Amino acid sequence: MALDVEKIRRDFPILSRTVRGKPLVYLDSAATTQKPASVIEALSRFYRECNSNIHRGVHALAEEAEAHVDETRRKTAEFIGAASTNSIIFTRNTTESINLVAYAWGRKFLREGDEVLLTELEHHSNLIPWQMLAREKGVSLRFVPIEEDGSVTVEAARRSFTPRTKLFAFTAMSNALGTIVPVKEYAALAREHGAVSLVDGAQWVPHLKTDVRELGCDFLAFSAHKMLGPTGLGVLYGREELLEEMDPFLGGGDMIQEVWYDRATFNKLPYKFEAGTPNIAGTAAFKAALDYLSGIGLAAVREHDETLVRRAMEILEAEDHVTSFGPKDAARRGGVVSFNVGDLHPHDVGQVFDMEGIAVRVGHHCCQPLMRKFDVGGTARASFYLYNTLDEVEAFGRGLRKIKEFFKIGKEARV
Ligand code: PMP
Repeated sequence: MALDVEKIRRDFPILSRTVRGKPLVYLDSAATTQKPASVIEALSRFYRECNSNIHRGVHALAEEAEAHVDETRRKTAEFIGAASTNSIIFTRNTTESINLVAYAWGRKFLREGDEVLLTELEHHSNLIPWQMLAREKGVSLRFVPIEEDGSVTVEAARRSFTPRTKLFAFTAMSNALGTIVPVKEYAALAREHGAVSLVDGAQWVPHLKTDVRELGCDFLAFSAHKMLGPTGLGVLYGREELLEEMDPFLGGGDMIQEVWYDRATFNKLPYKFEAGTPNIAGTAAFKAALDYLSGIGLAAVREHDETLVRRAMEILEAEDHVTSFGPKDAARRGGVVSFNVGDLHPHDVGQVFDMEGIAVRVGHHCCQPLMRKFDVGGTARASFYLYNTLDEVEAFGRGLRKIKEFFKIGKEARV
C-alpha cells in the first residue's frame, strides 16, 4: 500500500522550513531522521507534566515517569518481536550497545586465539570496539569479503568461519553503500558454528520489519534517533540467557541490588546494564516514535524506500561521469544511494546540493576501511525515509546536473 506522503509530511514541522531560500529537501535520514510533532510533543509533555527521576521515588511523579519507561520498553520489545522486556536494555545509542557487548560479553567469554568475524562493510562503531578488545585479549579479527558491487554473500561468510570463530558481528544494512545483508542466513551460520551473533541494526530496524526470533540473532543494536525518536537513546536487545551470564558493563546507581563497602550484588535484568539516571524524557518520547512507525507499518516504509531508491539509482546511472557504489538493484539496498561526481571531492558535491536546499551527507561515513577498498576518500550519500517524495528525488537529480554544470564536469575546462 502506497504511503500518503503529503499527509505524513504535515506531521514533521521541520519539513516546512526553507534552507538558503529554497524548500528544505532532507536527504540525510541515515545520519538521523526528522521527528514528528507527536515525538516533539511527548518530549516536552514529559518535562511539563511529570518530570522526575525513576527507581528512587515513591511519589506520584516518579511512578508516572517510571511507567513511561516501562511502557516504552514493552513497545520496543513488541516492535522487534522480543519475547521479554528483560531482553531490552536502554543505552545511549548503537555505539554504546555494541560496546556493551564487547565489554560485558567479550571480556568475559573471549580467550586468546579466539576469532571475531566482521564484514568489510562495518561502521567504525562495529569495528573499533572489537579492535580494542582484540588488543586487550589477544583475539583476532577476520572479515567477510565484499563482492565488487559492495554486496555480500552467504558463501563468502561461510568460508570465513573457522573453528575458533566465537562471535559474528555484522551490520544488517550498510550505511555507506546501502547493501542489505542476509541477516537471517548470517545468524544461522553463526549458530551452526557455535558462535554468538550480533547484528548492527542501526540502518535496518528503522526501515525493515524486525523479528528477532525469526532472524535468530543473539544481540541486536539500534538507535532511536534514526527511527523518528530522540537523540541520546539506543537499544541493545540480547537473548535473555546470554544477558544473564554477562557481568555488568558500567557500575553505579540502579544496576545494583545490595552494596557493601567492599562488594556488591547486581540488579536483575534489564537494570543490571542500566547504571545511572537514564534518558527518561527521551525514552518517554521514543514511545511516540514507535507508535508512529507501527501506525504506518514497516512493509509500507520499505516499499516507499524502494520506490525512491529505484528512481534515484536510475538518475545516477543515467548521468555520465557519475559513479554509484553498492548494488544497482533497489531490491538489494536500503534507503541509501552513494556516489561520486567526476573526480570532485565529495565536500564540493555536498556544498552545491546545500546551495539548492538539499541536505546530503559527504565523507567516509564512519567506514574508512570500506572507502579504502573502493579507493576513494569518501562519497556523497543521499538517504531517504517515509517523508521523502519522488519530487524530492527529481530535485536531487536537478541538483546533480547543476553540480556537473557548475564544475564543468565532462567539459574541457574545470573551474
Ligand atoms: N552502525 C551503523 C550501520 C550506522 O549507520 C550508525 C550511524 N551512522 C551507527 C552504527 C552508529 O550509530 P550511533 O551514532 O547512533 O551510535
